[in-house]
This record gives sequence, C-alpha cells and structure tokens, in this order.
Amino acid sequence: MTARILIVDDAEGSRRVLEAKLTAEYYQVTTAADGASALEIAAREPPDIILLDLIMPGLDGFQVCRLLKADENLRRIPVVLLTALDSREARLEGFEAGADEFLSKPIDDLVLFARLRSLARLKVMIDELGEHEEGSRRMGVTPMPSARLGASGGRILVVDDDRAEAQALAEDLSIEHRAVIETDPEKALVFARGPVDLVVINIASRSFDALRLVAGLRSGEHSRQAPILAVVDPDDRGRLLRALDLGVNDLLPKPCDPLELRVRVRALIRRKRYADYLRVSVAQSLELAVIDPLTGLNNRRYMMGQLDALFERLAPGIEPVALLMLDIDHFKHVNDTWGHVLGDEVLREVAVRLAASVRAIDLPCRYGGEEFVVVMPGTRLSDAARVAERIREEISGKVFVSGDQEIPVSVSVGVSASDGAEDRPESLLRRADEALYEAKSAGRNRVVIHTPRS
Ligand code: GH3
Ligand code: MG
Ligand code: MG
Repeated sequence: MTARILIVDDAEGSRRVLEAKLTAEYYQVTTAADGASALEIAAREPPDIILLDLIMPGLDGFQVCRLLKADENLRRIPVVLLTALDSREARLEGFEAGADEFLSKPIDDLVLFARLRSLARLKVMIDELGEHEEGSRRMGVTPMPSARLGASGGRILVVDDDRAEAQALAEDLSIEHRAVIETDPEKALVFARGPVDLVVINIASRSFDALRLVAGLRSGEHSRQAPILAVVDPDDRGRLLRALDLGVNDLLPKPCDPLELRVRVRALIRRKRYADYLRVSVAQSLELAVIDPLTGLNNRRYMMGQLDALFERLAPGIEPVALLMLDIDHFKHVNDTWGHVLGDEVLREVAVRLAASVRAIDLPCRYGGEEFVVVMPGTRLSDAARVAERIREEISGKVFVSGDQEIPVSVSVGVSASDGAEDRPESLLRRADEALYEAKSAGRNRVVIHTPRS
C-alpha cells in the first residue's frame, strides 16, 4: 500500500537518505527543511503521513506537532516523530504533543516500513469515515456534537501467560483504566468479542503462540476494531516485525516503563474512540439524513427525493400519484396551553395515527413543524380523499391523553393528485397546499380536494 509522505528535517543529508529509501519503496515523497514550510505544505497538499524531525531551528518537532493536531483539517494525519535522542522524556512529550509514533535515529528500515504500512492502513480508514462525515455535513445533517473524547476509563484486556507480569501491568493500567487479565488465548479471543478498547499482549508468552492470537483477533468480526499493544523483547526482531505485519498497532519494549505504557495506552484509546465516534456518527447521520428524529417518520428531504423518483418512474400521465398535506389545527394553542413537551407528544401521536391509517406503499412523512405529507403512489384523487377523511377522523375522533391531561387535536387536510404528463412534483405539492389553505379558511378539521381545472 502506497501513501504520500512528507519528510520534515533540517539536515539535508538525512532528508535525502530517507527520501531515497521511501521512494524506492514506492511512496510518494515531499520534503520540507523546517517547521514553517512543513505546515504550509501540509495545508496546501495534505500528505497521508508526516515524518517529523524533533530538533530543528525555528519551530521544533513538538511545536509543529501541536500545531498540526490543533488544526481541524490536519489533525487526522498521523505524525511520526524522529529523533536522535532516545530520551524517555522526549518520547513522553512527543506523545503529549499528539504524535502517533516515535522512531529513534538511526532509523531501523524494517521497523520504519512496517510502521508506515500500518499507519497508511489507519489513514485510509480514517479518511473513509471522515468523508462520510463530511458528506453528511454537506447534506445539512449535523452529526452528534463532537464530544470531547477522553482517553481514560478504557476497558483493557491484558493477555500474558505469566500471571505475575500481567498483574504488574494491570496494576499500572488500573490507575486510569479497567484492566482484565487473561492467561488463556482461547478465553482472550472470546472476551475480545465484547466491548474492549485495547488488548495488551505479551508477544514473548511461552505457553502459547501470541502471534496466532494477534491474527485471530484481527480476523474476528467483533474484535478486529480493537487496537493491540504488543509487549515485545526488543532483541527479538523477527517476532517484533511479524507482530507489526499482522496488524499490531503499537509496541512496548520490555522491561515496560510504566509512564511510557500509560501514554501509549492513552494514545491508542483516544484513537480508538475517535474511530468509534466517526463510525457511530456516520451511521447516525445516514439515518438522520432520511428520518425525522422526533416522530420517526421519513423527513421532507427523503420525501422530495422519493417524489421526484416516482414522477420519473411512473410517468404521471399514465399512473396517478396522490398527495395529502396535513396541518395540525391551532397547534400553537396546544403548545401555549399544555407546553412544548406535550406538544411534542401530540406530534408523535399524530405521526402514529397517520402511519397506521395509510397503506404500506404510501409514504407518510413529517414535512416540517406541525405539517405532514403523505405520498400515495398509484392512487386517484377520490381514493386519496377517502384516506384523508379516515385520517382526519382517526385524529379528531379520539382525544389525545397524556397522564391526566386530555388534549383535543384535529387536522386540516389538502388533497391533490397528479394531472397529466406535464405535471411536476412541485405543482402537486403546491395544489395540496392551496387545498389545505382552503380547509383552514373554511373552519379547519376538514378535508378539501384540489379540484382539477376542467
Ligand atoms: P393553524 O390552525 O392555522 O395551523 O394554527 P397553528 O397554531 O397550528 O399554526 P401556526 O403555524 O401559527 O403555529 C404552528 C406552531 O407549531 C408554532 C410552532 O411553535 C409549533 N411547532 C412547530 N414545530 C414544533 C415542534 O417540533 N414541537 C412543538 N411542540 N411545537 C412545534
Ligand atoms: Mg403550520
Ligand atoms: Mg397548524
């Protein structure tokens, strides 16, 4: 899998070496010699991954990273901090600045490539989800408020055949999270089907093949979203690289530094929650795009799309389409007398009675406020008028009850039907609206049919 990579390094030599290596691996590479031009390039032509040198004149790597992560448009780009210092403090500060990975110079090529592969995969997923989210924003649907996604209180599964070691890890983790220990890989697989935010696996476990467990988790339908942190023996490069190839998200060298464990776990959980958030908001906004959340009926946008499609398919000159437009009478009075909350209940009950009074092929929807529309394919004006009358009786005939409150509700209805091959959805709606207006003028709680010109 290829990706666009931006290399940021003030030292020309290391920049060129890295560029040559990555180009040979078929990555598309651009370079920047300082932080300011890196930010400028990233904004103009966002890369998929940024390799960022830590120590540079002007803006240093921490500062560039913070600026990238504070930018709504750039924060999704994974950042790998590169440094000659193998200092624990620098690593911790890097993670605090929002870096996604940390590699020490001289860079181990195989580890670098494995890291880039896994980041490129992650980037593809985040882009796909992000595009859906962006798309629904453009459609005018606001996904749920982007709540601050915390990084604590995660559910963590620790898998290690050495119970004492697992216990020590779990204790460190339990300061901020809830950790569960499992020494049996089969049981771990079962457990990971549930809601787990992170799986920590000791890759050096002797009594079972931890790499097989990683593969099992990655292929399980319910566990594949869970990030995996592999605890590795830094000298066992073979297993370390296999683990990365199999889809481990991060590595923690033994012996584990509790502080580094904590920041890596926080970074993984924050990323997992962000992906979860995107997944949920995509699903939710797809639904919001077609459903009115108060009544559960389809919304106006959906109805308009269906009506357009119906006119295209049915050629209304041949196959009729009828339309009812309903408006609750004196609904302002309902709100004023019983309050908005009961007003909402009335809207929901009207929706229930409306949906129960039409055929399955009819499309009842909330048109807006206290107005509803029913699209009736293959229906003539006279039949539609009969249905309208039934709906009107259904609503005004039985008083609405909420607790010990009794609320009289009625609706006025305008009815129209398609009129020849030249007719358009907009005029069908307009005629129903005119008829509705007449019903209101004539005293409300009645049905008026728009009579076609003859
Ligand atoms: P008319 O018989 O002429 O239709 O009178 P009306 O009072 O129903 O009509 P008007 O258009 O003056 O008022 C509609 C009211 O519906 C005003 C608005 O506050 C209320 N409304 C619109 N949407 C909602 C909603 O989602 N919930 C509640 N509770 N009220 C709503
Ligand atoms: Mg109204
Ligand atoms: Mg009204």
